[in-house]
Amino acid sequence: MPELESVLKEHRDFFSRGGTRSVALRILFLQRLRKTLKNHETEILQALRQDLGKSDHEGYMTELGIVLDEIGFISKRLTNWAKPRKVRTVLTHAGSKGMIMPEPYGTVLIIAPWNYPLQLALSPLVGAIAAGNTVILKPSELTRTVSGLLQTILEEVFPPDYVKVVQGGPDVSTELLKQKVDYIFFTGSAPVGRIVMEASAKTLTPVTLELGGKSPCIVHHDADIRLAARRVAFGKFTNAGQTCVAPDYVWVHRQVKERFLTELKSVITEFYGERPLESGNYGRIVGRRHFDRLIRFLDNGKCVIGGEHDESALKIAPTVLEEVTWEMPVMQEEIFGPLLPVLEYEDLEQVLETARSLPKPLALYLFSQSRRVQSRITRELSFGGGAINDTLMHLATPYLPFGGVGESGMGSYHGYESFRTFSHEKSILKQTTKFDLPFRYPSSKYGLSIIRKLLR
Ligand code: NAD
Repeated sequence: MPELESVLKEHRDFFSRGGTRSVALRILFLQRLRKTLKNHETEILQALRQDLGKSDHEGYMTELGIVLDEIGFISKRLTNWAKPRKVRTVLTHAGSKGMIMPEPYGTVLIIAPWNYPLQLALSPLVGAIAAGNTVILKPSELTRTVSGLLQTILEEVFPPDYVKVVQGGPDVSTELLKQKVDYIFFTGSAPVGRIVMEASAKTLTPVTLELGGKSPCIVHHDADIRLAARRVAFGKFTNAGQTCVAPDYVWVHRQVKERFLTELKSVITEFYGERPLESGNYGRIVGRRHFDRLIRFLDNGKCVIGGEHDESALKIAPTVLEEVTWEMPVMQEEIFGPLLPVLEYEDLEQVLETARSLPKPLALYLFSQSRRVQSRITRELSFGGGAINDTLMHLATPYLPFGGVGESGMGSYHGYESFRTFSHEKSILKQTTKFDLPFRYPSSKYGLSIIRKLLR
């Protein structure tokens, strides 16, 4: 696509001219972005309601608020992060100084998904800008109102050779991936993640993959069951389950299963009323294809809570399924919707054994008061990140890096980790010219014996 080539050329020129070099200027642009987002708050919340049925509370808390906070956190610290850092050297290097200089890669391509269309486009963008890159952003084609608004806002803040929004679906993504950019940041599904990585291999471009998977939640018998039910319901039914770190399913101890289900039912009513399909607090499914896929799961196992759905509004009530088996489709793929299978266990060993045999999830949640259980689960299982006695909230602190491991992704971001992800750490050794230790040279008589003493 010739237009894409010319966009990229403009970005390269802007970068080569030093357009992103000044840290003060980067902060200025970030602040301008923050202000513009605030000015557009009403439209942003409306757009999120239109595309995904998000309430203002949810839209602000899980999208706009997170981005505003991230900008504030990064802007405050950026001057320090961007400074070259002195490091020690070793005896063989006597007289020299070591330094790590963070430098931007150049142009970053960000490909964003639809489920948090604002946050998952802008959070990486903020990191990329902070680190001194230019950005080409491709938002999701499935959330057109938000994607259009993102373009308007970013055009208001940045010149097009600094940040460019390119709209479109997989075809446009494919063309973008053929271009030689300097870094690719992808958020989306594992199958598309594979395509992205294949394309990045062709141009040897570094890549971060923020993918998904089936994130488990364990509710042990010693947990505060009422609180567990509240926090599981919050994690699962926020954005109608279309959250990459939503608890995909729950493993609950047999002793507390009935109580957990009773509490879950009551908290669903508290959050969304007797008729969740009519609740203004409850989101909708993004599109017809996604809705149909989810409806097919409804007869997997036994539906004990919810199950109602409204095809014309693309809404599915918060639903809990029992008696599901690992062979059923609902347990074979990431659910990504408001259906919560509840599995029962007797012995925690069973859970550990099954969890170890599954792909490493993006998140894992444990509800238990026991330090021993907490320590076993967090030490013995591998997962991107997670929470003890909570769900989702680990994602919303800039002090914790966020990312997957294994099939749930590679690389991480948020807070300092965003700056690091979008920076190359250049190592510089500044050598003294005051003296020249001779032992390294082939002509040195005692060279080898000195080296043997120094390098052991
Ligand atoms: P997706 O992979 O279908 O799409 C993501 C992006 O890739 C979109 O911009 C889309 O246009 C583009 N795309 C689609 N097909 C492509 C192709 N063949 N070639 C190149 N680009 C292509 O994902 P989605 O449906 O938007 O999002 C849902 C998935 O994303 C879930 O698996 C979820 O767990 C995951 N996710 C992960 C995170 C995270 O932070 N780790 C966050 C949100 C969503």
